[in-house]
Order: sequence, then structure tokens, then C-alpha cells
Amino acid sequence: MMEVSRRNAIFGAAALGAGAFLPQAAAASVTKWDRKTDILVVGAGLAGLTAAVTALRHGAKVLVIDKRMWFGGDGVLSAGQFYSARTKLHDEAGITKNVEVEDYWKQIQSGVDDEPLSKVRDNLRLSVIYSGVNKHNPEVLHRSAEYSPKVVEFVQSYGIKFRKMNPAKPFQCPTENGSMSRFAEGMVKEIERRGGKVLGNTRATEIVMEKGRAVGVKAAPTNGGKPVCIGARSIVIATGGFLNNKSMMERYKRFWSKIPTGFSAVGEGVPPDHTGDGIVMGKKAGAAVEDMESMPKLYAGPQKGTPGISWIMFDVDTAYLVTKAGKRITDEHQSRYSGCALKLLSTHNEVGYAIFDEKTFRGPNRDRWQFEKALKGGGLFKADTPEALASKVGVDPKGLRETIDRINRDGKVGKDTEFGRKDPLFRAMTPPYYITAANWPLAYKTEGGLEVNPDFNVLRASDEKPIPGLYAIGSTCGSISTRLCDVVASGLIVGVTAARK
Ligand SMILES: Cc1cc2nc3c(=O)[nH]c(=O)nc-3n(C[C@H](O)[C@H](O)[C@H](O)COP(=O)(O)OP(=O)(O)OC[C@H]3O[C@@H](n4cnc5c(N)ncnc54)[C@H](O)[C@@H]3O)c2cc1C
Repeated sequence: MMEVSRRNAIFGAAALGAGAFLPQAAAASVTKWDRKTDILVVGAGLAGLTAAVTALRHGAKVLVIDKRMWFGGDGVLSAGQFYSARTKLHDEAGITKNVEVEDYWKQIQSGVDDEPLSKVRDNLRLSVIYSGVNKHNPEVLHRSAEYSPKVVEFVQSYGIKFRKMNPAKPFQCPTENGSMSRFAEGMVKEIERRGGKVLGNTRATEIVMEKGRAVGVKAAPTNGGKPVCIGARSIVIATGGFLNNKSMMERYKRFWSKIPTGFSAVGEGVPPDHTGDGIVMGKKAGAAVEDMESMPKLYAGPQKGTPGISWIMFDVDTAYLVTKAGKRITDEHQSRYSGCALKLLSTHNEVGYAIFDEKTFRGPNRDRWQFEKALKGGGLFKADTPEALASKVGVDPKGLRETIDRINRDGKVGKDTEFGRKDPLFRAMTPPYYITAANWPLAYKTEGGLEVNPDFNVLRASDEKPIPGLYAIGSTCGSISTRLCDVVASGLIVGVTAARK
């Protein structure tokens, strides 16, 4: 995250500069512009910053505005895990089979590892519709999958280091802790070095349309200063999702609007200002939306103030999920953090707990999950027997004893008789055992938004034709997933297409 000074001084006439580009449409425009640029990017999250850098590299003049006083959006709060088809990281790790773009695409379509094409697409938590309902035009998502190796290279070009890859999850490319702030910071610096501008505390309120073309944006300083009109040849909307827009959540997500939000803990880790501004403005300008009813992305976290341990650990470490009754409810590895949270909801369990043993605690990911911090801070407990472990967090001791005994019996012969886990992380545990504090299912980001074509040009609702001058990327756009890899890919693509004259 970064603090930026002098935000509002920029609203002076001098900020535009004498040589500023006059947008074609704006030349005949009836709107009086306070400033003009080639490309106006609305939203300085990772999608918007990537688009801005790319457009500048392609010779366009770029202005970025953001309603916050810090830049990088959710990306800088994120766990920094990318996904990609074959990259140099794969080659270095010796992972070279079945990792090409079409293998990656097959996995996306099957939905076995996370989103996006195959998952809950309606509003019932017990929905039978878990797969097979596709995006209107899968070509958009396919294009961002093709770009995934370029995304990893782009991130690396800012000096970001990736963790060692896990052959069992060959498309996951996790970055080191804290990398995403440096990534955002690097992009902001490059934008400024190339003569672009990133203005904070500046909220877009309306897309200005003339003769069916998007020609600018009305924006207002968030501290109550005078609103301005900014003209541009291309407007790239990158304002994020709508998790905190109550009426949109109730209209589109129904059941999901009622569950708590957060990430690191209930109500924490995601700023509560995801009001879907870009989607609202786009709809007013006549844009189509897609995938609005899909399930928001789920996570799980403890109560405020309790250090959490990410359930992403189910991907790479031996650990199991139990309920208050001490029972397992799913194949943790295949379900992943999001599927585990969904399973708690669909089985009417209010909370869940991760359990593991000393080998995991001392394992290669102990710093990544910050086990010591959790142990000291009341987020993790240790005991020699299942009964003693259960008593630390109020889980049923008999249930936990039965569960651990069964895991240990099954683990010795490598056969999960309860949920059929087949991954190599399924094994018996040896004491001492560990159990996390209770974790609640949470929603932390939305899927769904403005519909675009493969150039990320926004489509008109009335005839599904592109709206000239209007683009949507990142989690404002309903045609891709809201994962970092797709969000950054959309910025790389639009930076070129929107810069074209
Ligand atoms: C806690 C957390 C952890 C995550 N971990 C991962 C992960 O490990 N891997 C992964 O793939 N994904 C992860 N995600 C998801 C991923 O981080 C986001 O989907 C992605 O960063 C979204 O980027 P974006 O640029 O589209 O939107 P955002 O990051 O939401 O950025 C939008 C920007 O637009 C600005 N804005 C909004 N409205 C206006 C307006 N009217 N005018 C001007 N500016 C406006 C906002 O202030 C914000 O800066 C995580 C998300 C969260 C919240």
C-alpha cells in the first residue's frame, strides 16, 4: 500500500499539460472538459495499473484515478497466488508434462481446482448446479488463460519472487509474502516515470456518452471538492467488485448476501468499499452484465483479533477440516479453502477447525502460514491427545478421537475410507496434534460484472455490440474470473487494444 500526497492539487488546470491529447470524439464534443487524455483508467487496482503501464508502453497518454488514497486495490491485500500454464518457473521445477495452455484450460473448464467455469452459478447453497454453466463467451476467459505465462513474466519483471512450485498443484504460482505491495508500487513508479499520472481520492461517478460512444467520465474529489469532467479516447473501467453494495448483493446474490464478509477474520481484511461503481456506471451507459448470480468467492476466518491460518494450506500441507462435532465433512485437498467453506454452509455447520500434526507444524510452509504467531496469539492450540485438543476449542472430544483414529488407520494404508482422498498429502498424523480456533465461512470477493468481448470492449445490453471507447477489466468485468492471473491478463490485453488509435 502506499500513501500519496498532493492528490487534490492535481485538479488544477496545469495538471493537464499543454500537449495533452484531444480525443477524437471529444473534438466534436458538447461536453466542456476540465482535462483530457488518451486513456482514462478508472481504478488503480492491479488490473487498472497493469492496463496503464501497458498503454504507456504502447505510446498512449494515460491518466489513472482511484477513489482511495492508496493504490493496488485488493491485490495488495491478497495472498498473492497466481495461476499459469507453463512458464520458466515450471521448467525450473521440472514440471513439464501436461502444463501447456490447453491443459490449463481443461482444468479451468472442469472446475476441479478452483473456479471459474464450473461452480455454483445460482443462489441456492444446496444447488445441484455445480458445473457446466459457462460464461457467455468462453473465448474471453480462454484469452486470459493464454496470457497467463505473460502475466507471470510481467510480475517477475518488477523483481517479484515466486515460491517453489508444488508438482501436485502444477498451475499454482504463489509469490512470496508481501510481494503484491511491491508489484503495485513498481507499476505506479513506472507510470509516473513514463509521464502518466495516478490520482487518488478521486471517484468516478458517471460515464459521459455522446452519440453512443463513451467519451469521458465525471469524477469528484472524495474530500468534497469541485467535480470535474475528464475526456478520453478510451475509458477503461477497473473499479473492482460489488461485495459491499447491499442492494446489488440482495438482487443478484440473494442467499450469499447474508453471509459475513472478511478474509483474515470476520469483518477484516477486505475494506468495506466494494460498491460496484463501475458496474453501476456501465449499466447506466447501456452495458450488458453477465454472471451476476454466481456464488461470491468464499473463504474462512476466525473472530476479529484472532490470528488466522489460511485454509490455502489444504493445497500444500497435510491437514484436515473438522466441525464442532469433531467430524470431517469433505475431501479437503480437492475442495480447497473455498469448497471447504461452502461445505460448512451446505451442511449447516456454523464453524470449522483445521487439524494437523507436528510434521506439518515444522514443515516447509510454517513461515507462510505463520504457525508460531497463531500459537502465541490464540489462533492455534496444541495437545498430545485428541481429547485434550478438543477441550481447547470446545469441539466434541469423542467425535475428534474417532476422526483422528480413522485418519490414522486409513493414512497408514493410504486409503481415505471416508472421503476417498487420493492426493499424496493424505497420511496418518503423529502427536502432538494442533487445532485452529473456530473459523467462519466468509465472502471476500464477487464474480460477475460488465460483459466484454475478447478485446475487453464492453458490450451494449440492447444489441451485444461493443460500446465504442468503453472497456472493462479485472473484477469489474463478468467475462473472466476475478483471480489475480486473469485480472492482470485483462490489463495486459486492454493496455494494447485501448491504446490503438
Ligand atoms: C483478501 C484477499 C485475498 C485474495 N487473494 C488472492 C490470491 O491469492 N489469488 C488470486 O488470484 N486472487 C486473490 N484475491 C482476489 C484478487 O486480489 C482480486 O480479484 C484482484 O486484486 C482484483 O483486482 P481489480 O484491479 O480488478 O480490483 P480491485 O483490486 O478491487 O481494485 C479496484 C480499484 O478501483 C477503485 N475504485 C472503485 N470504485 C471507484 C470509483 N468510482 N472511482 C475511482 N476508483 C474506484 C478502488 O478503490 C480500487 O483501488 C484476493 C482478494 C482478497 C480481497
